Amino acid sequence: MSEFRTTKAHMLRESKVYQKQTLMGGLSGFESPIGLDRRDRLTALRSGDIGFVHSWDINTSVDGPGTRMTVFMSGCPLRCQYCQNPDTWKMRDGQPVYLDAMVNKIDRYKDLFQTTHGGITFSGGESMMQPAFVTRVFRAAKEMGVHTCLDTSGFLGANYTDEQIEDIDLCLLDVKSGDEDTYREVTSGTLQPTIDFGRRLAKAGTKIWVRFVLVPGLTSSEENVENVARICEEFGDSVEHIDVLGFHQLGRPKWHERRIPYPLENQKGPSAALKERVTKQFESHGFVVY
Ligand code: SF4
Repeated sequence: MSEFRTTKAHMLRESKVYQKQTLMGGLSGFESPIGLDRRDRLTALRSGDIGFVHSWDINTSVDGPGTRMTVFMSGCPLRCQYCQNPDTWKMRDGQPVYLDAMVNKIDRYKDLFQTTHGGITFSGGESMMQPAFVTRVFRAAKEMGVHTCLDTSGFLGANYTDEQIEDIDLCLLDVKSGDEDTYREVTSGTLQPTIDFGRRLAKAGTKIWVRFVLVPGLTSSEENVENVARICEEFGDSVEHIDVLGFHQLGRPKWHERRIPYPLENQKGPSAALKERVTKQFESHGFVVY
């Protein structure tokens, strides 16, 4: 997902390190169903009784409003060139966590969420890879009166029913490119599912914060930005603002550690002038831009 905001210090460490942590974050505080065999795990995954989680943390005003518990789910079908968290790509690299344990954790922070107008955010990896788990947690959160936020590319939006969309208060929707060719180059996936999911969110009245990662030479052309803006216009008043996230290299060590060829090895982030140009482009379409 939009790892440019959500990459946390603990995510930049090796999993063995954060598993030993006893402080907040990583996967501390969850009992893992280690004893389940493969078949039981698959059954529990499909039913949403367990979810595979990379890590979680508590943050403020990053992954949605107020103080939030952000849960980074494992597994992603895209292969974005600028991914900051390739360690979230494989679901099996996550730790299985019981649904009840997750719901109890939210319950424990419920008062904090209400005081700060915060809530629970699912991010990733791709939060939609495990729809049963995420939607059951969201249902439980709504029953507790807790605000829900889904950080997603929308690529797997077809996994969600209209009823499940109703439990999403806010979607951080990554519009990674404005045309299919650039989208495929950036992600290896297709753009249309993101557009389709955004339209469904807008129809349901769900609030959207669009996220667009600005990579000079890859996503930065005026034409591409114009196309992203036009897609956002389709979502109408649901779009509260657009985050223009400048590319950075904080995730590069993870590509090296995993010995995955990193296509943006020498890529620079956007200059202030480029960021201003793109911001103005979105603003010219009437959007608030951060
Ligand atoms: S590859 Fe997946 S986790 Fe990485 S940026 Fe793309 S959508 Fe996000």
